[in-house]
Amino acid sequence: MSQPIAFIDLAQQRDRVRDKIEARFKRILDTGAFIMGPDVAELEAALSAFGGMSETLSCASGTDALLLPLAAWGIRSGDAVFVPSFTFAATAEVVAMLGATPIFVDCLPHSFNIDPDNLRLAIDEVKQAGRLRPRCIIAVDLFGQAADYPSLRTVADEHGLKLISDAAQGYGATIDGRMAGAWADVVATSFYPAKPLGCYGDGGAVQTNDAELAAVMRSLRVHGSGTDRYDNVRIGMNARMDTLQAAVVIEKLGIFPEEIESRMRIARRYSDALSQVVTPQVLPNGMVSTWAQYTVRVSDGRRDAFMAAMKERGVPTVIYYAKPLHQQTAYRDFPAAGGRLAVTDELSGDVVSLPMHAYLDEATQDRIIDAVHASLKSIG
Ligand SMILES: *Cc1c(COP(=O)(O)O)cnc(C)c1O
Repeated sequence: MSQPIAFIDLAQQRDRVRDKIEARFKRILDTGAFIMGPDVAELEAALSAFGGMSETLSCASGTDALLLPLAAWGIRSGDAVFVPSFTFAATAEVVAMLGATPIFVDCLPHSFNIDPDNLRLAIDEVKQAGRLRPRCIIAVDLFGQAADYPSLRTVADEHGLKLISDAAQGYGATIDGRMAGAWADVVATSFYPAKPLGCYGDGGAVQTNDAELAAVMRSLRVHGSGTDRYDNVRIGMNARMDTLQAAVVIEKLGIFPEEIESRMRIARRYSDALSQVVTPQVLPNGMVSTWAQYTVRVSDGRRDAFMAAMKERGVPTVIYYAKPLHQQTAYRDFPAAGGRLAVTDELSGDVVSLPMHAYLDEATQDRIIDAVHASLKSIG
């Protein structure tokens, strides 16, 4: 049997940026500027330029990047925040953590992202029930593909809601050349190592064009600090990103646009070769995805057999997400739009992700493509 294939391979990227990152690490070790050192300010400026937003705060994780704007807006018990169920737990967790209620919304069958029509239904239901105040929408750029922000902005404006882009997977994705910040009030991202733009530990960032909001989030990031260092003015948290992680992201951001192009090229090759036999997540024309995952649907209960057959051929596959949030123990008592999320339930039963990273060479892509065809044939 030939060499096993990595699901995500970070080694080639590391070798590209290693010298520059080590030089930055050395300087940080020499100066001891571990907390809020110069690399943090440098990263925030670079991210503002990259994302086209005036304010960027680095922070300790993608989860904190979601928590900071919600806390700054005073989201609390009695508030409703609309979130997809087909996502990573953090999207809804931050809402519940503040005592507010996540309302689960269904997704679209082709993009896998939050469905604006189902969102309207969810908002109407909450308004009619009259127990919760609708406050905010958190859209997720699932697997790297931007949510339908133009439609979501319209819905948000119709109902006076804030709109957050949870871009942990899709930071850098565009719609007609524009990133989520063109529509969302806040863009939140994660630098967890396996995300398309990752560091070597935990980290995140939150961006906005609202200077007042940014000032409150900056205070919340460091224990609710005010201008007098001995007088904290609000209840905050410790959500700083450490300088070493900022140094990593600065260097990786430099090669990120090229990596997005590479991921787009690989995804196009995958979809050209596989669309006849499986149903991939569909990227509409005019959009660029960061392809955090390349995900296909293998229907009719064949997924387990497919994954086993791929494994036999040395190709790892992973399910994101086998159990949507509205089915998970901690979340199943929160409301779901219309009482049932039909598309989400269906997707969680048939999605499977293939190896994807910017350094996947064509020979390996071909091995993966051949394995998909052979595996499907072998399971009938
Ligand atoms: C990873 C992820 C997060 C959380 O990021 P962390 O840095 O791990 O806290 C939030 N939302 C989504 C959609 C994610 O994929």
